Amino acid sequence: MTVGMKYAVTIALSDPHRSADPPPTAERRQIAAHGASRGSVPGTAQAPEGRKKTPHVHILPIRCGARTLATCLILSSTLIACARQKSPDTPQTVSSTLLPTAMNSDDPAPKPSINSARAMQYVRDVVAFGPRPIGSPNHKKLETYIVSHLKGVTVEDDAFTADTPEGKFPVRNIIAKFPGTRDGIIVIAGHYDTNYPLRNTGYVGANDGGSSTAILLELANHLRDKKRDGYSVWLLWTDGEEAVKQWSATDSLYGTRHLAEKWEKDGTLKKIKAFLLTDMIADADLNIDQDMNSTPWLESVVLQAATRLGYQSHFFGRSLPIEDDHLPFVHMGVPSADLIDMDYGYNDVFHHTPQDTLDKLSPKSLEIVGSVLLETVRLLDKM
Ligand SMILES: [Zn+2]
Repeated sequence: MTVGMKYAVTIALSDPHRSADPPPTAERRQIAAHGASRGSVPGTAQAPEGRKKTPHVHILPIRCGARTLATCLILSSTLIACARQKSPDTPQTVSSTLLPTAMNSDDPAPKPSINSARAMQYVRDVVAFGPRPIGSPNHKKLETYIVSHLKGVTVEDDAFTADTPEGKFPVRNIIAKFPGTRDGIIVIAGHYDTNYPLRNTGYVGANDGGSSTAILLELANHLRDKKRDGYSVWLLWTDGEEAVKQWSATDSLYGTRHLAEKWEKDGTLKKIKAFLLTDMIADADLNIDQDMNSTPWLESVVLQAATRLGYQSHFFGRSLPIEDDHLPFVHMGVPSADLIDMDYGYNDVFHHTPQDTLDKLSPKSLEIVGSVLLETVRLLDKM
């Protein structure tokens, strides 16, 4: 499921010694390049010990400056769920550079927003299907539901059969394409399948699976029938993100591993300027984590977007390495950023439990992430 390990994070957004990140034209960086010794806490960083079921992650939250010493102490948390972990061979005390680049406060561009009530209704609709693990009738119904909301949009499938520890399953990534005037593609992705091992527990994945499905549907409303003066935007509903037995490199990310390989072969991959992933983004107490496996300059753009909209306090309050659908693309050199809130309920207690239900969610959180995504796209278009 995840790698059990300890690590320390000591980045501080206010660190004046950190410079702005390079633009997207800079050489793409791989995960391995993120490792740095700067600012490590002695004795807290160590090499991975191999895969363990319940990793203990020691986190020194960033932005400790104004907080009490107690809140700045190294925290311990247990990550359960969609195996999110650090790269197996990169013990890292990341020194990331997430200072927003110089912002033009005179930027007259209107601040984007989404229809959060409509987005929330999508979550309700999706949850109403019940558990939606791969291979289930409810999953099939959701596929139809997603495509039915994309009328008039160019939609492509990446459908295949996945060989899993629980047998063979049909997997279908759904891609909606919104062409732009610039050469290049921004992908915004999120998974729509729900946890397989919990399929008979009443688990509906309102946040984990539901929120990502819904935010993409709402973004489609903002992209359709509009001429894009910028990169093409592809919305990608990924499938088979969840492990069917226990998270591992081979039991997880079925859809994106297949798609990244396909896009590498057909030449699509090198056109992708940014891969923006959403996962578990509707928690009423929204804290988007800074993922140490993501691409720093792209996270910097996301933070810049959040700051312009006044939502920066919901972003990157702590750092941890996360395994998610972006990883197959990260490994192939695609600039990627995972927007995920891995603190779903106190100590992440609702994550991958039947308590992942609608009452924990807020349309405001959907509004925050949706509008930040649109603003991020706008900023990328200008770079
Ligand atoms: Zn999950």
